[in-house]
Amino acid sequence: MNKYESIYDFAVNNNCRANFDEPMSKHTSFKIGGSASLFVTPSDDDALINLLEKCAQENVRTYILGNGSNILVSDEGIDAVVISMCRDEDQIQVSDDGIVSCSAGVSLMKVCRTALKNSLSGLEFAYGIPGSVGGAVYMNAGAYGGEIKDVIVSCKAVSRDGVVTEFKKEDMLLGYRTSVFNSNDYIILSAKFRLIADNPDNIKSRMDDFMNRRKTKQPLEYPSAGSVFKRPEGYFAGALIEECGLKGKRIGGAEVSVKHSGFIINVGSATADDVMKLVEFVKETVKKEKGVELEPEIRIVR
Ligand SMILES: Cc1cc2nc3c(=O)[nH]c(=O)nc-3n(C[C@H](O)[C@H](O)[C@H](O)COP(=O)(O)OP(=O)(O)OC[C@H]3O[C@@H](n4cnc5c(N)ncnc54)[C@H](O)[C@@H]3O)c2cc1C
Repeated sequence: MNKYESIYDFAVNNNCRANFDEPMSKHTSFKIGGSASLFVTPSDDDALINLLEKCAQENVRTYILGNGSNILVSDEGIDAVVISMCRDEDQIQVSDDGIVSCSAGVSLMKVCRTALKNSLSGLEFAYGIPGSVGGAVYMNAGAYGGEIKDVIVSCKAVSRDGVVTEFKKEDMLLGYRTSVFNSNDYIILSAKFRLIADNPDNIKSRMDDFMNRRKTKQPLEYPSAGSVFKRPEGYFAGALIEECGLKGKRIGGAEVSVKHSGFIINVGSATADDVMKLVEFVKETVKKEKGVELEPEIRIVR
């Protein structure tokens, strides 16, 4: 029995769904990527913690997946147990004092709609970000002047050896598209947001406005991972790329979007290699012509 067969047996006997050689193109917004050696969806936090302990004991690498909207998986796939946080039983609870508690796998869109239903404001900026709550906290996702940092109170996370800790906002070191979780290897299990009461018509109109701006400016009709590069200080990545004449530049099936130069889209059957080559080409061109170093926001996973 190889290491993945032994983890598979453990997983299916411990409240997890599991598949060998799962194509990651099915689980990423880019619709690109080779297979995960083993793809597991634990049904709850206990199942997740047991699985993590088993993988640690067996010295098997794990990779945590949210909604797959900020990653590029290599064509060779991921030689690891990919653990999906997006499960069927994901939960959102709203308390009278405006605290919204969510498990990590809930989609941000669903949280935004729940906030609206409860006349709670603060998360409108996130309407249209296609990530999970865990991925959004990990990335400190943001848009239109708002970010997770503005609304988060605390989150619960577990270390790879199974120790659960509560992180207060100040412990999370939330910065521009970064958090402490980028370096501490903890897995976010749930998060609490503090929202404020407002008129639902006003909340809805802000959500609709942000969504319309996305639909007008972003190539949502194509698979992508959103903005490929972080905003360099004092510049906009999209504007720099456009000024370098790179709009519409293609390598294989990967294209710098004509609609929004900050996006690379999959126009057909792009490979991860096509996207990586295009990312490098854009970086080199912008560095040469503008003297600005672009840093990718998307995570490359091998
Ligand atoms: C069309 C489009 C528009 C977008 N617009 C925006 C935008 O306006 N603003 C913005 O900030 N982003 C945007 N994004 C990028 C992306 O949606 C966000 O970064 C989102 O927060 C990623 O969440 P996810 O669940 O998809 O994470 P994934 O892509 O699955 O993972 C991202 C990283 O988080 C880690 N991770 C995920 N879940 C957990 C967890 N529970 N515990 C620990 N680590 C975890 C992963 O290991 C990985 O390193 C956009 C993407 C697309 C495709």
